[in-house]
Amino acid sequence: MRRFEVYFNPSSAAKPHPIREVKATHIGKLVNVRGVVTRSTEVKPMMCVATYTCDMCGAETYQPVSSLSFTPLLMCPSEDCQKKI
Ligand SMILES: [Zn+2]
Repeated sequence: MRRFEVYFNPSSAAKPHPIREVKATHIGKLVNVRGVVTRSTEVKPMMCVATYTCDMCGAETYQPVSSLSFTPLLMCPSEDCQKKI
């Protein structure tokens, strides 16, 4: 399989905006921004639904996630596995 990397760059003629001037009109457009990075953190992907497959019974369990942190399920909630406990 061939993989390609695609980059989008705003036109070099586009004047950089200060962060405070980036408004709703810029949504969906490439914006050239000028500023100073004062702090950076690790990128945290936001999970919407955690999906588990049980190694014992094969049941699929879906856990909706509504915040940035969540507690992963430890036990399979299926009837088969609940009976074995
Ligand atoms: Zn199970």
